[in-house]
Amino acid sequence: MGGLRDGVLYFQRCRWCHTSVFRCLLCPVCGSTEMATERSDGIGVILQVTIVGRSVGRPRAMAIIDMREGFRLRARVSAEPLQRAQVGAQVRLGFGPRPQEIAFQLCHS
Ligand SMILES: [Zn+2]
Repeated sequence: MGGLRDGVLYFQRCRWCHTSVFRCLLCPVCGSTEMATERSDGIGVILQVTIVGRSVGRPRAMAIIDMREGFRLRARVSAEPLQRAQVGAQVRLGFGPRPQEIAFQLCHS
């Protein structure tokens, strides 16, 4: 399965049509269940971003990230100030407050 293991992000690629997905058991394109796990280089671009947690005084940016390998995932993006986490910004896998949380940071920060 895809996910974060020892600081490395893994995803699945369909053995038949090579579509890459994150945490899917079934290829969304051809329906195959033969998914190979591959290692991501952890670089992507923010496709959509929402600031959450403002009401509790702990705002954070949650983004949909379009990864270089072609899959998308939802993760937290650290930025200072948070407004710098914008659509189109390049991000790389970083470290979140909790080790198992997938978190990204801006490439140029
Ligand atoms: Zn497929």
